[in-house]
Parts: sequence; C-alpha cells; structure tokens
Amino acid sequence: MANPVFDTLAKVLILEREREYNNLTVSGGLDRLLANLIHKNNVALPMPLPAGGYESLSNHQRMLWINKCLGIIGGSLSGVNKSNNTRSKHIASASPNKQRNTSTTLNLNSPINHLSGIANNLTSKFKKLGITTIRDMLYTLPRRHNDFAKINTISSLTTDSEQTIIVNVWEAHQKLLGRRTRSTEAIVGDSTGNIRVVWFNQPYLAKTFKTGMQLVLSGRVSLFKGTRVIESPEYEILNDKEDLMHTGRIVPVYGLTEGISQRNMRKIVRTALDIWENSIGEFLPPSIIKRTGLMSLPDAIRQAHYPDDEHKLLMARRRLAFDELFIMQLYVFSKRKAWRESEGAVKLHPQKATLIWLLNKLAFNLTNAQTEALKDIIKDIENTRPMSRLLQGDVGSGKTIIAMAALISTAANGYQSAMMAPTEILAQQHYQNISRLLDDSKLIEKNNYFTFNTGDIDKTISVGILLGSQTRKEKKEIQELLSKGTIDIILGTHAIIQPDVDIPQLALAVVDEQHRFGVMQRSELRSKGGSPHLLVMSATPIPRSLALTLYGDLDISVLDELPEGRQKIETRLIEPASRNEAYKFLRSQITLGRQVFVVCPIIEESDTLQVRAATTEYIRLSENVFPDLSVDLIHGRMKIREKEEVIEKFRNGKTAILVSTPVIEVGIDIPNASVILIEGADRFGLAQLHQFRGRVGRGKNKSYCLLITESQIEQTVNRLRIMENMDNGFSVAEEDLKFRGPGDYFGTRQSGLPDLRVARLSDTDLLTLARQEASRLLIEDPNLNNTENADLMPMLNKYPTTEYGSFS
Ligand code: ADP
Ligand code: MG
Repeated sequence: MANPVFDTLAKVLILEREREYNNLTVSGGLDRLLANLIHKNNVALPMPLPAGGYESLSNHQRMLWINKCLGIIGGSLSGVNKSNNTRSKHIASASPNKQRNTSTTLNLNSPINHLSGIANNLTSKFKKLGITTIRDMLYTLPRRHNDFAKINTISSLTTDSEQTIIVNVWEAHQKLLGRRTRSTEAIVGDSTGNIRVVWFNQPYLAKTFKTGMQLVLSGRVSLFKGTRVIESPEYEILNDKEDLMHTGRIVPVYGLTEGISQRNMRKIVRTALDIWENSIGEFLPPSIIKRTGLMSLPDAIRQAHYPDDEHKLLMARRRLAFDELFIMQLYVFSKRKAWRESEGAVKLHPQKATLIWLLNKLAFNLTNAQTEALKDIIKDIENTRPMSRLLQGDVGSGKTIIAMAALISTAANGYQSAMMAPTEILAQQHYQNISRLLDDSKLIEKNNYFTFNTGDIDKTISVGILLGSQTRKEKKEIQELLSKGTIDIILGTHAIIQPDVDIPQLALAVVDEQHRFGVMQRSELRSKGGSPHLLVMSATPIPRSLALTLYGDLDISVLDELPEGRQKIETRLIEPASRNEAYKFLRSQITLGRQVFVVCPIIEESDTLQVRAATTEYIRLSENVFPDLSVDLIHGRMKIREKEEVIEKFRNGKTAILVSTPVIEVGIDIPNASVILIEGADRFGLAQLHQFRGRVGRGKNKSYCLLITESQIEQTVNRLRIMENMDNGFSVAEEDLKFRGPGDYFGTRQSGLPDLRVARLSDTDLLTLARQEASRLLIEDPNLNNTENADLMPMLNKYPTTEYGSFS
C-alpha cells in the first residue's frame, strides 16, 4: 500500500527524529505540516495525536509517537526506498522492508537496528550482550533494581543511603575539578532548601540543565568541607511523572558493555517496551494461566523492567521463572518420551568372561554400588533402545572403571566405543590408567594407541587417544585407524567430536564429567554413530528433585558408597595468619611420604584482584618456604606435554608439592596425595571445593583439606565452615544451592541445559508447579496438537537440537 503521502511523512518524521524532536524540522512546526499533508489528502494519521497536537508532547512522547508512526507506515515505504535520496538509508532502517521484500513487517524477531536510538555502531555492542533481535532486547532483564520511588526533600536528606529528590535547577555550569576533569556543577533546590550537585567528567550536562528546569535526582549525599553535596547522581529531566526512567521510581539496572551507558540502555529498552509490548503475546494456554494465576506475559515483561512496585516485580519474575522451568520440563519430558520410543541402537552381547578377566586385573573388588551400576549398564546395552544413563557418584566413588568395563565389553563385541573427557589431563589420565591396567596383555604399544588381547576371546582390541594438542600427523593417523575400524576404543577430549573424525561402528559413547559439556556436544558425540548407547557420568551431586528436573530424560545409576577403607577427609578453615602452621603440617605429611596439592584461584597476579596466583605462589613456596623439597607448578596455559610431564612426575612421587590453578578440579587421581591446601577458598563455590577436596582421600591414607581465605565477611566465612562438617557431596550441593543462584550452578555450560535467567532451582515450589503443569499438559495433549497449545511448539524448538533429533 505504497502511498506517496506516507512516504513524505516518513521523510519528515525521520528528519525530526534526527533533530531530536525539537519541532523545528519544518517551519511553523510539525502540526502545520501534518494539517496540510494529511488532512488535505484526506488520509488518517498512522497514530492519532492529542488535541494539542505534536507541539503539546514531551520529547519522550514525541519519540514514541514518531517511532510508532514509522513502525506502522514501515510497510508502505517501498517508494521511498527506491529514491536516491540520501536519507533513504535512514528510512530503510525505519522500515522493515528491504526493496525486494515488501510484504513482511517488523516483528519481535527483527534485528534491533529497527529500534529507535540504535545506530549501526551500537548493534555490534549489543551483540556482545547477546542481543540481536527486538525480542532479545525485551528479554534482557535488569540485573537488579534500585528503588528510587520514595521522594525525599532536600532538608531531610541523610548521608547514609541513596535517596531521591525532585528539584528545580537554579544554575548549572562547567567546572574544572582536579587537574583535568571537567565536570558539571549545579545548584538545585526545592521548597525545603538548596544543595550543590556535581557530575564528574560530564561537562556536557551543564548545557543540558537549564535554569528553572525540574530534575529528579537519585544519589548519595556526602559532606565536602562541611557542606552537603550530591556526587554524580542518577538524573532525569522531569517532563511527565509517568515517563520516568532513571529516577523517582523503581529503576532497572542492566548489565552493560563498553559503549552502552545505563541511561542509554534504559531508554532503548523502554522504547522497545512502549512500541512492542503488545506484540509479545501469550504462549501459555489460557487453562494454565487460569489455574496458576500467573501474570500475563506482556505485563510480566514490562513489570520485570519497570515495575510499578515490589510486589509486581516479584510476580513478574515468578511468571518469567515459571516459563523457563515449564519449557525445560516439557522439553525433558518429551525427550524422554522420544527416547523411550526410539530403537536403532546396536544390541550388544557383553560376555561375562571378558568382564571377569578385566575385574581380576584390579587390585580391589568392586563396591556393591559399582556392581549394581555395571549391571544396569550391561542390561541397557543388551537392547536396541539406546541407553541413556547418567552414572552419578561422588568424587572418588570409582566411576571410571565402570565406564572402562562397558567400553571393553563393546569392543569385545566387535563394535567401536568412545569416551570424552573435558580436559586433556583427564583424557590422558584415562588413557594411562587403562594402559597400565592392561599392561601384561599388550601386543603392540605405539605413541597414541596400543593393542591388547583379552585372553579367552580370540580378539585383539585397540585403544587410542585423540587430543586437540596432538600434531596434525598424529591426529591424522588416529583418525584413519578410527575410520577403518582398526581402533576399537577411542579416548579423548572435544577432539573426538570434530567433523573430520569418523567413528563408523560407534555403539557406545561415554561422557565423563558430563556437566562440563553442553547438550550439543553430547549430541555431536552421539551423532558419530547411528544411535549409540550413551552413558554420561557426573560427580556433580545434585538433590534428587533437581536430578528429576534436569536429567528427567535419563535413567540414573548412583554410586552411593565409597570404596572400602576411605576415611573422612579432615577439613579445616585456616586464618591467613596461621599459614606457617599449615606449612608445618604439610611438611609433616611429606615426611610421612605423602604428597600435597596447593590450589590457587588464578595463574598470575593482577592489580585488581587480591588473590594468590599460582605462579607467584610457586616461586614463594619453592624458594622460601620449602627450598629443600621438590615443588612443581601446573596451570591451564601450559602445553599439554608439559602438563603431562608435571602430572606424571607427581604421580610417580617425584614431586612433593604441586601448586595448581583450578585445572586439577576434575578427575585427577593421585591416591598418594593426602593434603590439599586451597588459597582464596572464598572464590569457589562449595560444590567446586568439594571437587577439589576429592583430589585427596583417594587412597587408604587419612587425608586433609585446608581452606584459606582472606575474607573477613561473616557470611563468606560461615559458608566455608559448612565444608568442615559436611563430607557428603549431595548435602554440600544442597547448601551450595542456597548460597548461589542456579545460573552460576547450572549455567548452560555447566549443565548442558539452556540458561535459566530468572528461575532459581532452589525454588522447589515453582519447580514442582512447572513439573505438574508440564506433565498434565503432555497427558492431555501428548503431541501438542490442540490449538491452545500451538504456541508452545516454537518455544520447544528453540531448544538446542536434542540427542534424538529435533522435537517436532
Ligand atoms: P571418580 O568416580 O571420581 O571418577 P575414579 O574412578 O577416578 O573416581 O576412582 C578413584 C580411585 O578409586 C581410583 O584410584 C580407582 O582406581 C579407585 N577405585 C575405584 N573403585 C575402587 C574400589 N571398588 N575399591 C578401591 N578403590 C577403587
Ligand atoms: Mg572421574
């Protein structure tokens, strides 16, 4: 519906926008032009204006009105686009249409450069925040809110907290403060008195604030040479109380990136809300909204940004959290269903003789829990329905040998199997372990693979290792052996899911420390074969309610007992002042023949972080504290060969003390190590500390975990004290959940599940509600065919492709 009147109007409106809505774009003001253009041509304005016309609107309202108009006439701008007018570029950006495609209109999935206030250079900055579409913008919730809703008077201001006042500007001017900083200083007042306000480094504000202007200020009062001053407060020019964005209300505070200011962000989000909130729509079926009494989605989005009050903010967050949990549940349930109905895995026939042969090589008997888990797995892989099992067991419970038994069984059946670990050190350790265990059955030993015979069975099995850090030649050799089917068992890191790796006969895939991988990576490993059996292993001990939620699509085996002879690891929180005593203790353990880990949070010292760094600590310990002992260092930036050497030396007892960054967090198994001293313990979560602690106590020796923190904060100290009394990983995890948001705990990277931005997994009530509703929905409408559920399908399909193909 190209209409030349609208084309002209669009040009004028865009010009007016560029001139920041000063109403000087056309002589006589916009209203006169509108009267001429619109009324004479007998067409209606895209958006009505109030009786006072454009002239009567505040700047903010003008912006909104223009953007709405441009959004609406966007669809008819083809004529303008074709013109070679220099401004046509701007018009094109206000329009949803590229010249070729005039039928589409702007929607929530349109890129953000269609939002006013976002020039091209800003789009790349927003991309850094993960914001590319209008929908992203609306869903980018504030980190927190500042409550500036209560208005104070100048005379009642106190110096202890941030407060909000409404004032008149008496005068504002630039001022040189210090040597360089040009600042703005203003004197403002209300009916109770006057006060000085300073904005450092923002001299341009002096021009913005005109005498007589009304401002809303939120900030902290301080005393400077005996007089009161407000320093760099949040400010807002008061046009219309309804329109406040930065002060005088509960104000959103967003996570930012360089080049986007808080004010800018607020303005952009607010405009996006004003124009788009009605397009958000509702995807939950009305029955669920009714039953749960949840806030509607458009309301929730608005209130989550600009809440009317605390209660509404709470309700908004509850609604958005429900959405996340509900969709997650729906996804997990449907995945489980798809998997239950799927077939096509290789039916394996594990031989008892092979298993007995293998277990006889061990220096120990399996625990009952291990035996049960192994039985579960054997039963699963004797089936054409692909196994999907989580093997969960606290650190040191002995998961590796179970996986090895499954891998070897698969190989003995003539199929290939793979095990992926999150770090090269760990992958290497698995390879060394199995290599050592099978030493006396070996036939061939090469650099990156070896071949052994299982004795009874007329079968030789080859085990290889594939790592990103191997040379191209090494990798190529292993890849060829794999694709020919010569290598039966491949151990490695992400390297084994690279596109050029082909495992044609893959029947079993194992993922160690699975919480370190994403869903995508798991599914890539799966896709290396037709539909292999999948075993994922994790020591992240999570409460059962959560396991059901997060891993509802998996069967679970739990190793709930530790091997015999393990002793409780003595854990102590130590004051920095007692560090020397701790060192004495380390020395006494080393004298007994034991070894020690010292963990530091970071690699190198930095000015900003008051944290012990591994390299500095290594130098200090090896030169000053333990000059007579062998001290070594390991961190993530070392080459894999160097790391291997360091670990190997430590494993062989050549090193007494290993100083490390968190690289040793997962999996490393050195049974002779009996003490782990953790510097900057407050920097780690409890579950992570529990993982570190699991590096010791893996043998028969009494072991110790010493935590040091410089922090004096009571809450931090109390949190760490929990470790002293709690040795069970599950309880630690539950405690951890109370202290940390689930985002930290089960972020995408951690759990392999989509990000939970709002929901807290510790909110068991909401979790239960979401589970109930999801299960009810799938019982009533298993394939989501009902029209009232139609909008759910796209939500589910936004999830990463599942291990069983996409949902629909
Ligand atoms: P995790 O479950 O943390 O991966 P590992 O599989 O690395 O634990 O096992 C930890 C240590 O315990 C290893 O040295 C392993 O050889 C040993 N181990 C495993 N099972 C038993 C058992 N049943 N009895 C004694 N030691 C065992
Ligand atoms: Mg392990």
